[in-house]
Amino acid sequence: MLHSNGQKQIQISAQQEKIYKDADARETLIVYDGTPSGAFLLSQIDDALKQITYKRLMVKPTVLVMVSVTDPMEIQLVLDRVKEIKSVFLESVNWITAHIACCMYTESKVFLEDVCNGAELIPEYNDVISSCSIPTYQKELERVLKEKCLQMIANSLSISKCMVPDDADDLGRLAIDQLCLGRGGSLSALVTVLDKRDDFMLIRPLCDVSKKEISIYNHLCGIDEHCIPIAQTKIETKSVQSLTDSFIRTLENEKFYSTINTVLSTASKIHNTNSSKEGSRCLLCFVETADTLCKTCLAIQRACTGDKIGRFVR
Ligand SMILES: [Zn+2]
Repeated sequence: MLHSNGQKQIQISAQQEKIYKDADARETLIVYDGTPSGAFLLSQIDDALKQITYKRLMVKPTVLVMVSVTDPMEIQLVLDRVKEIKSVFLESVNWITAHIACCMYTESKVFLEDVCNGAELIPEYNDVISSCSIPTYQKELERVLKEKCLQMIANSLSISKCMVPDDADDLGRLAIDQLCLGRGGSLSALVTVLDKRDDFMLIRPLCDVSKKEISIYNHLCGIDEHCIPIAQTKIETKSVQSLTDSFIRTLENEKFYSTINTVLSTASKIHNTNSSKEGSRCLLCFVETADTLCKTCLAIQRACTGDKIGRFVR
């Protein structure tokens, strides 16, 4: 049942939101980040493309493996594992592996197969991240740069749609984080299925599926083995994000399981009413704002030494 639910979810999100209305814009980046949710999304897209009984999902996927580990040995390990996973899911489509440091590219790039694109920019990327002295802003900067990276890669490949494996738990936490960071007015776009930007669209088909549902499905369908530790694990410093995480965990331990759902359904109804009419957006995080940078991004810029953010804002 879960199986068809997941597929239906993707199908329904795609139809309701009319994401795929014109025939020539079906090319979609499918982001695989090595997490259980990433593996689940791959399996769902793979199934949906093969589907003959239920209405077939009309997308033309390109899988983007997003790497954030920095050790060359670990990156090689990811490339090896990707080869194995590719033989199970979406074998016939293009796969591209790219490091999150691709956000540092200033112009379109040709992306090669079977290498970790952008790995040469890791030192430069680390330099930007470590220039930020406040842990909360540092984490937020990482999130914003990850979106920049997705957009950069999508633009280079001339693809305008990008499906990310963010699940309900990820987005519920993000909603609380963003409230604390002062982006409350833009919450809806950040945590719902569709996030339309000028020439780029983020799609979150798993926004109603919880980590728990995904882990049960993955376990029952043997998808567990298709997860890779791609993300850099760091020593956790106290930040708004880590506090949100422990807050949600505490509530769950106390059996308040519906917190995430409540937060998400409330957040999806919050829209910015006094944003600029022309729809101008923050150059860094893309939320609607009348200024070049939103207040949160200004604060991030101030927390970074040596104007390392300037390159993204020009
Ligand atoms: Zn911003």
